[in-house]
Amino acid sequence: MQDFKLTFQKEDGIDPLKSFREAFNFPKDANGKDIIYLCGNSLGLQPKQAKEDIDFEMARWATLAVEGHFDGPTNWIDYHYALKEPMAAIVGAMPDEVTIMNTLTVNLHLMMTAFYHPSATKYKILIDHSAFPSDRYAVDSFLQSKGIKDGLLILEADKGALVSNESIQNTFAKHGHEIAMVILGGVNYFSGQFYDLAFMRAITLEHQCILGLDLAHAVGNVPVNLHNNGIDFAVWCTYKYLNGGPGSLAGMFLHEQHFDNAALTPLRGWWGQDRKERFLMEETFKPMKGAEAYQISNQPIFSLVPLNASLNLHSIAGIEALRQKSIALTSYLESLILALNDDRISIITPQAVDRRGAQLSIRIKGGNRTIFDQLRSKGVLGDWRNPDVIRLSPAPIYNNFEDVYQAVQALGEVLQELN
Ligand SMILES: *Cc1c(COP(=O)(O)O)cnc(C)c1O
Repeated sequence: MQDFKLTFQKEDGIDPLKSFREAFNFPKDANGKDIIYLCGNSLGLQPKQAKEDIDFEMARWATLAVEGHFDGPTNWIDYHYALKEPMAAIVGAMPDEVTIMNTLTVNLHLMMTAFYHPSATKYKILIDHSAFPSDRYAVDSFLQSKGIKDGLLILEADKGALVSNESIQNTFAKHGHEIAMVILGGVNYFSGQFYDLAFMRAITLEHQCILGLDLAHAVGNVPVNLHNNGIDFAVWCTYKYLNGGPGSLAGMFLHEQHFDNAALTPLRGWWGQDRKERFLMEETFKPMKGAEAYQISNQPIFSLVPLNASLNLHSIAGIEALRQKSIALTSYLESLILALNDDRISIITPQAVDRRGAQLSIRIKGGNRTIFDQLRSKGVLGDWRNPDVIRLSPAPIYNNFEDVYQAVQALGEVLQELN
């Protein structure tokens, strides 16, 4: 593996983003050594700046109390505005198309409520195969709340775990006339497949279906160009590749074409009321422009603060530079795994770099979880997904090529020890 070692030394040496690693706290093992953290697809690391910023807001709360809403450079009423532009840049949207509110599954319910207007024959909702369970529960219960019993339709994977454009075409040829809405993971959480969004938009338009995306595994990971792709709505959490902290606030995108769409039926709350009139407490609702009209409650500031610290880092790093590094990191991970040449493991994530993000899903023959547990005991943290997959996701903002090298060295050792 000598040449692979040279690769990591060279790549880390010339990495223009290498200094960002220092901006994050890495978890430690029992000896105080940094864990090799390849789990940013599940929970991103803590930006060091977050603590200072939280302390700052705690002090403002202590000294200003209610007046913190209106006073000072970080007044709480407007706090989330600082996050809008960086967030919009990350998802390829205009700032008014994006807001930050609630959590992912809640936003999914809200957006389905606004967009779902079935007819007697066109009422089904198509979701991704092995959709994240929460999405499935959400869509299923949403349909039930509308009194619809046979509305859930699954976009099945081909042999293996991927969905080809051809089988998407077949699904629409068969069911397009009855599908009202499609809810797709931008990147499938299990396989790591990154869907062709332009293709999905074209086929859903052809069949007159609303296209909503769950970008949990895509945001901060791959370019999604929501505006130009003409996506109707999207929701995402911010604690995975965006490092906003456990359970941090979620994002929501509403395409500009729907700002004045009177057919939509969003649920309302006072934080969607026009900012200038919000505190007049009047009975008539005058919505904010764009996505902000969908805000319901006032913002949990202590959840926005770490996200703000992280988005600042993402803005400075730049989404294109992050994606470039991510492609290189994950390709390096792939070459190292393939070089192990062990038939107990196989990569199910697409080989094409434009059909995947940071994550590689490694299928373990026979679902032997010991391999994952042994890897963990060697200080490498990815995650295990039943029945048989280890997910490893180098995050370009804080991982380096050496992390990837060390992780696969450890994997090689584990496989050898199990021989
Ligand atoms: C992580 C994830 C979620 C999490 O939902 P929350 O509402 O934030 O708890 C939902 N869907 C997908 C696809 C995810 O990957």
